[in-house]
Amino acid sequence: MNNAERADPTTHFDVEAVRQDFPILHQQVNGHPLVYLDNAATTQKPRAVIDAISDYYLYDNSNVHRGAHALAERATAKFEGARETVAQFLNAPGREQILWTRGTTESVNLVAHSWGRTELKPGDRILVSAMEHHSNIVPWQMIAEATGARVEAIPVDKTGTLDMEAFESKLKEGRVRMVSVGHVSNALGTVNPIEQIIQAAHEAGALVMIDGAQAVSHWPVDVQALDCDFYAFSAHKLFGPTGIGVLYGRRELLEAMPPYQGGGEMIQHVSFEGTSFGPLPYKFEAGTPDIAGAIGLAAAIDYVNGLDRAAAVAYERVLLAYAEEKAQATEGVTLVGTAAHKVSVLSFLVEGTHPNDLGFLLDQQGVAVRTGNHCAEPIMEQYGIPGTVRASFSFYNTFDEVDRLFEALDKARQFF
Ligand code: PMP
Repeated sequence: MNNAERADPTTHFDVEAVRQDFPILHQQVNGHPLVYLDNAATTQKPRAVIDAISDYYLYDNSNVHRGAHALAERATAKFEGARETVAQFLNAPGREQILWTRGTTESVNLVAHSWGRTELKPGDRILVSAMEHHSNIVPWQMIAEATGARVEAIPVDKTGTLDMEAFESKLKEGRVRMVSVGHVSNALGTVNPIEQIIQAAHEAGALVMIDGAQAVSHWPVDVQALDCDFYAFSAHKLFGPTGIGVLYGRRELLEAMPPYQGGGEMIQHVSFEGTSFGPLPYKFEAGTPDIAGAIGLAAAIDYVNGLDRAAAVAYERVLLAYAEEKAQATEGVTLVGTAAHKVSVLSFLVEGTHPNDLGFLLDQQGVAVRTGNHCAEPIMEQYGIPGTVRASFSFYNTFDEVDRLFEALDKARQFF
């Protein structure tokens, strides 16, 4: 049976057509056709994104906002147009609530340092989940140390599901100022019940930041419907370039927050007697921004918007279910992360093997996965494991590629 015959006919997703948009997928690696299953680390880029970045450098390259010439005007129009594209993508109320950052990591640091530095007092509490990526733990620890606040983990059970009862009792204990959780866990694939988390946190008087790094490539996000205070993501996990990301923030919070970094672009007036800062979003954007990156991200969003997203979501669900079934039917394979609501990630261990050795042997057969703790050391420690093998899927992966993964695993195991 080929991929098309195995795909759930209800998904109506033409994966072969989509694969044509991604030039990198069509190559041999170590003598085998590439099977790219490391999408949680970074996604591949469609030609439209590569072309948008290259066209910018070929025809429009200039600094933005301050030039008095045609190229500067074109670069500025594209750059600010990209901000508008992101605002619409997240359904943000205004484009000035979209801040460019280097990625999710910098977005969390920006909130932790700017909001946290002025708002947190000794004894205040910040809740994150036990399955967070380090980038949604460490910035909070740093600001907690500086302010006397403390960071606490919302427990996660052995399936990778957040303990909502424990979360609500932590809220009841008082003084929770910020709840910062991942929309989707990169290590386990768990989709967290963020609507419920946001509502409960707000009722307890806490703000909520959502790390959307692993979510935006899988389904549309609406920050107004979610009612979150901050939402962060990285372009490179959404088929866009590395080095640029987004922070969405509630307007009144961003207005009250002090700048994160100082320099050019973010000021209104500078003198040695005192400096005033620019309006949103520029107050948070010191220095020359990643103009090509913003344009590349907008092209990625246009690309994703041009797909039948409902069909892509359904296709990814069926693909993951197929991979999970195969894993469960394979002797000696244990899934790590079996929450009821998951997306994209198949994290697993194979009896008698170390994840890193397996990763190497899979690579020799053209299959790209990630191994290790996936920057989520606390949850790995809780599970008493050094890490996992992680295959993570995107809508351009196929059923044949899932088969290739398991065939390669079989072969790899013969080495042990
Ligand atoms: N959060 C999650 C859930 C992630 O998966 C990642 C990237 N692996 C990050 C945050 C950090 O993203 P970046 O490195 O692009 O800043």
